[in-house]
Amino acid sequence: MTYDYSEIVPFLLHWYERNARILRWREEPKPYYVWVSEIMLQQTRVEAVKGYFDRFLESLPDIKALAEAEEEKLLKLWEGLGYYNRVRNMQKAAKIVMEQYGGELPADYEALKALPGIGSYTAGAIASIAFGLPEPSVDGNVLRVLKRIAASYDDITKEKIKKELEADVRSIMPTDRPGDFNQSLMELGATVCLPNGKPLCEQCPVMHLCKAFHQGVELQIPVKPPKKERRIEERTVFLIKEECKHPVEIVLHKRPDTGLLSGMWELPNVENHLDVKRVQRMFPDAKVKRLPDGKHIFSHVEWRLWCYEIKTKATGSLPEQIEQGTQVFSLQEIKEQISLPSAFDCCKKYMSDEGEVQKKSRKKQ
Ligand code: SF4
Repeated sequence: MTYDYSEIVPFLLHWYERNARILRWREEPKPYYVWVSEIMLQQTRVEAVKGYFDRFLESLPDIKALAEAEEEKLLKLWEGLGYYNRVRNMQKAAKIVMEQYGGELPADYEALKALPGIGSYTAGAIASIAFGLPEPSVDGNVLRVLKRIAASYDDITKEKIKKELEADVRSIMPTDRPGDFNQSLMELGATVCLPNGKPLCEQCPVMHLCKAFHQGVELQIPVKPPKKERRIEERTVFLIKEECKHPVEIVLHKRPDTGLLSGMWELPNVENHLDVKRVQRMFPDAKVKRLPDGKHIFSHVEWRLWCYEIKTKATGSLPEQIEQGTQVFSLQEIKEQISLPSAFDCCKKYMSDEGEVQKKSRKKQ
């Protein structure tokens, strides 16, 4: 250990007792609740997760319900959280837990880590918070806090650095309160030792032990290599509605089972930006209207979207390049059952028309 972290333990525990936010998965730290919350929190802030968490548990109250859920239902519950493979992996893990562990998550760090979608951070969180096992739970927040305390310029994206820090945390873990200790580090990273902008050092319980603070270098840590530039993809999106249909019916396309947004429904779209004349040629009998442009950022690619509303007389005759894999849905079905990725938010508000909605869908031939 290059820095002796043992001194921070009592200060963090004391601070956590007084400052921990009240959260349902903390009040009732059942293994399933901790698991769901930690997976949701991987890309989303606590405040935003609360509503998703309650809705998810209301619909899927235990591991059995998760294992047996229809995929569309699962994706709908995850709509807005993004990174849908997280919830698909949770279901794969739930099925294994049903088969191998009688429906209860195993109280074992290595066994947890062997489940799909559970890495060392989540395994450590479940093991320590739900089962009281002295296992570390080191994510980006915790790496930032600990590297600042030590004024270390290590590259925190390196697996070796993370493993070293996990060993450091394991060596100082208070065996009577491992869950509280892990959560105190997470909480400090989320509410005081902030990632963007200046950390709130004056409120920090370990300020007197923090080397970065004393050296005035807290903004220079943590060190990460520069991000690779995202690839820009230009696409044209079609919001295709059957004219005069009340309720509104909309054409969706199912994406392939691999790659970006795998297996998700989407609005039909093609590569490149097509001007209105080209779109009109694709839909010669339709009313074509340009909608505001959209943009969506994925981790490695950025979509720049030109969007069109297409009002056709019959959605049964679509251009060849977008027809395959499409299906027509009523607006109500989309609202209630389909998880449409937020990449298409730019078109969502143009989906509805006047008129009563009713349940109806029909497959295209
Ligand atoms: S003193 Fe500041 S930089 Fe150091 S751990 Fe606390 S909040 Fe982070």
